[in-house]
Amino acid sequence: MARLSFQDLAFSDGKAALDIRFYTHYRCSIPHEDLVPLGPYTVEPHAVTFPRLSDARASRRFAALLEKAFSYLTNTVTGKRTVYVHRNSGIPLIGSGAFGIIDRGTRVLEMKPITGCNIGCVFCSVDEGQRQADFVVEADYLADEARKVIAFKGAPVELHINCQGEPLLYAPLAYLVARLREDPLVARVVVETNGMMLTPTVEDRLIQAGVSQFNISLNAMDPTLARRIADAPYRVGTVKATIGRLAKKVPVMVTPVWVPGLNDAEIDGLVAFCKEHGVACALQNYLEYRFGRKAGKEKPFEDFYAELRELERRHGVRLILDFKDGFFGKGKALPKPFKKGDVVRAEIVCEGRLKGERIAASQGRAVSVMKCPKEHGQVVMRITRSKHNIYVGTPVRSQPGH
Ligand code: SF4
Repeated sequence: MARLSFQDLAFSDGKAALDIRFYTHYRCSIPHEDLVPLGPYTVEPHAVTFPRLSDARASRRFAALLEKAFSYLTNTVTGKRTVYVHRNSGIPLIGSGAFGIIDRGTRVLEMKPITGCNIGCVFCSVDEGQRQADFVVEADYLADEARKVIAFKGAPVELHINCQGEPLLYAPLAYLVARLREDPLVARVVVETNGMMLTPTVEDRLIQAGVSQFNISLNAMDPTLARRIADAPYRVGTVKATIGRLAKKVPVMVTPVWVPGLNDAEIDGLVAFCKEHGVACALQNYLEYRFGRKAGKEKPFEDFYAELRELERRHGVRLILDFKDGFFGKGKALPKPFKKGDVVRAEIVCEGRLKGERIAASQGRAVSVMKCPKEHGQVVMRITRSKHNIYVGTPVRSQPGH
């Protein structure tokens, strides 16, 4: 008899298939007919038992079925198909702007365990409408690769868990934080969240795991406008209460995006709210991104800073924060194997988030290949972006296998 147990998988036997939940928000299934050759089986929430198979045989055959099922993994929050990035996936964690680790040459490293959000801010730099797929990264893979990057940097670092989406949707977030905190060079861990999923239990678990600070994006005080901005049933009262509660436990920074013509009338109230709760307010100037949502016109930075100075004077608080100090100062940057203009041959490892995009791997880096003509195999491309070890390429005309 073989009893296969899985901590991160939850099973339930459906009418036509064995339904599988992974990291709470991801779903896939194994059709009953594919399980027939393995003989009878029984299902528990985190285990499947095959009475007629040996451990080795059951493990091998069930692993093959799981692998096939995971190729149809779906994010139940966004409804998008999802790529599971794990240590045996062949997908490097450095090189993509969407998932993994980003090193911008400072002592701050960005950790991106998932994509996908529970709301849809009208100014979001990632227009989810243009994204066809999501990513979710194995917690241990991310923690182990982060440790290698930190060892290379050789100095204390601050880790920012800031996703193309909402990090609280990552079920093993506390576990990931605890794993990251095992490295004595990790001085601080900051979670950047919209705050909607924080509850006393969740935040206590995260703080206990090692979160040093929460950055919360509150963009309006008025409930109707806040909902309009979130483009979702957003409860501003709950988020405000969360900030007040959290501020008594750990440092909190409120990070409103100031969109000209949208939330101008809210800014004074936001600054006053932060002052009242003794939390930092880091107003952000709305910027238009090529693949982001368009919510208004960008304000020139000199005008933005002039308005911040005026707000500082009126409220008697500091709003212009110098991020070049401390961890944001210069750090040892990871080597960059490619530069813009290089022609690179890489192995396609999975689809990308945008239509026609594939992720290819070469020299330990992931490269986003736009308008990729192939789904599998090798691709030859010219690198069109290499900033901060984030690589984008476009295929050159002649391709291997063509
Ligand atoms: S909370 Fe952040 S990731 Fe989610 S939609 Fe808003 S800006 Fe985008």
